[in-house]
Amino acid sequence: MIVTVTMNPSIDISYPLAVLNLDTVNRTNQVSKTAGGKGLNVTRVIHDLKGDVLATGVLGGFHGAFIAEELKRAGIKHNFTAIREESRDSIAILHEGNQTEILEAGPTVSKEEQEAFLGNFKEVIKNAEIVTVSGSLAKGFPSNFYGELVQLTEEQSVKILVDTSGENLKQLLVGEHKPFLIKPNLEELEGLLGQDFSIDNLDELCAALNQTIFDGVEWIVVSLGKAGALAKYQDSFYQVTIPTIKAVNPVGSGDATIGGFAYGLSQQLTPIELLKLCMATGMANAQEERTGHVDPKNVQAHIEEIIVKKIEL
Ligand code: ADP
Repeated sequence: MIVTVTMNPSIDISYPLAVLNLDTVNRTNQVSKTAGGKGLNVTRVIHDLKGDVLATGVLGGFHGAFIAEELKRAGIKHNFTAIREESRDSIAILHEGNQTEILEAGPTVSKEEQEAFLGNFKEVIKNAEIVTVSGSLAKGFPSNFYGELVQLTEEQSVKILVDTSGENLKQLLVGEHKPFLIKPNLEELEGLLGQDFSIDNLDELCAALNQTIFDGVEWIVVSLGKAGALAKYQDSFYQVTIPTIKAVNPVGSGDATIGGFAYGLSQQLTPIELLKLCMATGMANAQEERTGHVDPKNVQAHIEEIIVKKIEL
C-alpha cells in the first residue's frame, strides 16, 4: 500500500468569471469545490492508476468533514487525525484568461494534535511499502517535522518520497534521516541552493546535484515542466525528454509525477521505467481540466514516446 501525507489540506474553490470587477459584487452560479492540497492530488492520481492508496494528514471542522466526504465519495481510503481548528479554503478566480488566487494559511496544529498524528502515522505505515509527503506544513509544526516522518518510515523500511520546498526541504536535507526521493522543480532547486541554473547547461545541474547537501538521498528528480526532467539515481544521471503536448491545466503536474513514481515503485519498475512513468503521469495531468487526475490511457501512450538518456560525465 502507498500512504500519502497532506499536512495542510484545503477545499479548493474555483470561480470562473467572465470579468472580475473590483470593489463591487461579483456573482456566479458556476462553482467547483474539491478536496485539495498537493498530497490529495498525489492520492487521486495513484487511485486513477488503480494503485492501493490511503490518504493521511490532519483535518479540522466542517471543511475537514467535507474533504473526508469527498474522498469517501471517490472511493479513496483515508485515515486523518482530527484537529480543533478549521481546515482551509483555497480560492482560485478564473477570469479573462487569468487565475487570481486567495490562499489561506490554514489552521494552527497544537503539540498534542501533532503527537496524535504521529501516533496515527506509526500505525498506518505498518501496512505501507511507500509513503509520499507533499506540500507545506500547517502552522505550529516545526520546520524539521518531515524529518521525523522520514525517521519513522526508516524504522519500518518504508520508502518515503518528499515533495516540499523552502525551509521544510532545507531542514529535511540537513537532517540525519534522508528521504528516498525528492522532486524539486528548477525554481525550488534554485531557492534551495541559492544559485540560478539553465536547463541548457546540464553539466552545471549535474554538478549541483553532487553537492553534499544531497548525500544519502537515493533519487533526485528535478522536474522541468515541458522540458521533462533531469534525474539522479545513486551515482547515475539521466536526462528525460518528453514530446510536446497541448497542455490544458498543468497545475498539479508535479504532484502527478510523485503519484506516478510511487505507483511505479509499488510495481517494482526499473529506474528507467520509473522515470518514464512519472513523466507520463505529469504530462497526462497537464492534459486534464481537473487538477490531480490522469487518464491511464494517456499515461500509457506517453510512456512510448519518452526518451531517457543516461548522461556520461
Ligand atoms: P511542478 O508542478 O512541481 O512545478 P513541473 O511543472 O516540472 O512540476 O511538472 C512535472 C512534470 O509534469 C514535468 O516533468 C512533465 O513531465 C509534466 N509537465 C508539466 N507541465 C507540462 C507541459 N506544459 N507539457 C508537458 N508536460 C508537462
